[in-house]
Amino acid sequence: MKWTRIEIPTGSRTQFLDITRSVEAELMKTRIKNGTCSVYMPHTTAGLTINENADPDVARDILTGLARLVPATGDYRHAEGNSDAHIKASLVGFSVMVPVIDGRLALGTWQAIYFCEFDGPRRRSVLVGIDGE
Ligand code: ZN
Repeated sequence: MKWTRIEIPTGSRTQFLDITRSVEAELMKTRIKNGTCSVYMPHTTAGLTINENADPDVARDILTGLARLVPATGDYRHAEGNSDAHIKASLVGFSVMVPVIDGRLALGTWQAIYFCEFDGPRRRSVLVGIDGE
């Protein structure tokens, strides 16, 4: 499987960025019709998730909910001062997999792939790997 890198500059400390079109663009560069599309994120203070793209308030509410679960300050020892971002990243996870069917990402009608920034703004990237036939 060949992996390609997509650069993702983020613009604020916490942010959900819909990267579905960028991932789909990598799929379109292949001739793969049926298989799997994996997206992996090589960072420790950001995450990847799939959730609703119809109402932008959903992404906002997830960020607000995570902030309530994991306060910015607390009984943390990590000297860099961004322990909340590390914890949120581990809660959300570092990769997603989407089935490829008939040459398209088989996402649900209301689903999008989100890059979840928890300690930006930074220059980020994700790796996209597409396997199949
Ligand atoms: Zn840190």
